[in-house]
Amino acid sequence: MIEIENVHKSFGALEVLKGINLTVDKGEVVSVIGGSGSGKSTLLTCINGLEPIDSGRILVDGTEVHAKTTDLNLLRRKIGIVFQQFNAFPHLTVLENVTLAPRKVKGMSRRDAEEIAVQQLSHVGLADKLKVYPNRLSGGQQQRMAIARALAMSPDYMLFDEVTSALDPQLVGEVLDTLKMLADDGMTMICVTHEMRFARDVSNRVAFFHKGVMAEIGPPEQIFGDAQHEETRNFLSSVR
Ligand code: ADP
Ligand code: MG
Repeated sequence: MIEIENVHKSFGALEVLKGINLTVDKGEVVSVIGGSGSGKSTLLTCINGLEPIDSGRILVDGTEVHAKTTDLNLLRRKIGIVFQQFNAFPHLTVLENVTLAPRKVKGMSRRDAEEIAVQQLSHVGLADKLKVYPNRLSGGQQQRMAIARALAMSPDYMLFDEVTSALDPQLVGEVLDTLKMLADDGMTMICVTHEMRFARDVSNRVAFFHKGVMAEIGPPEQIFGDAQHEETRNFLSSVR
C-alpha cells in the first residue's frame, strides 16, 4: 500500500503540498481531482521519488521513498507512471518501446521481454501494431502503448497523470476503457483526472485538491452527490 503522511513540499517560496495525508490500499483506485496548480502532479512525482519532499514521509509497501538508504531504481519498478504527454521513443517500434525497460532495467532476455510485451500490448488492444513506429499511431493508441510499456515492468502500483488531457475527444473513451479494465483487474491506481465521469464510475475514493491541500476525500457518491466543502462544490460546478 501507499502511505502519505503529512507531506510538505515547496518550490522555492511556493508551498505546493501543505501537509498531505492519504493511504491507498492494495487494489484501491483513487482519483485525484482539483484545479490547475493545486499540487496533483507534484504529489505523483513525489510518490515515485522523482521529486524530493521537505517534510513528512511516503511509504510504499513499508519502504520510505525519500530515505537515503532506499534504492529508488528498485522502488520505481513497483510503480508505473503515465503522463499526459506521449513520450514514446520515435526511432523504436511499438514492440521495441515496450521491451526496452524490461531488457535494460530488469535484464530480461529479448525473448522473455517480447513475450510480456506482446501480452500487454494485446491487453490494451494493440496486438496488430507491434512493428509500427509511434508516429503512425493515434494519440489514443500512443497512450495505450505507454500504459502497456509501464505494465510490462509488472508494477504493483500505477500512477496516471491526466492521461487523456492531450487527446482529441473521440479518443478519450478508448484510454479510459483501458484504465477501467486495469481497475477491474485489481490494479492499485492513483489517477489524476479531469474526467469526472471516470472518477465517479471507476474510483473507490475521490480526493479533491485545492491550493496544496487535500480539501476533501470520500467515496464518489459523497464527492459528487454530497460534497462537504464549498471549494469542492465550486470546482465541480465549474467543470460540469
Ligand atoms: P497540478 O498538477 O495540480 O496542476 P502541479 O503539481 O503541477 O499542479 O503544480 C503545483 C504548483 O507548483 C504550480 O504552481 C506549479 O507552477 C508549481 N510547480 C510545479 N513543478 C514545479 C517545478 N519543477 N518548479 C517550480 N514550480 C513548480
Ligand atoms: Mg498536473
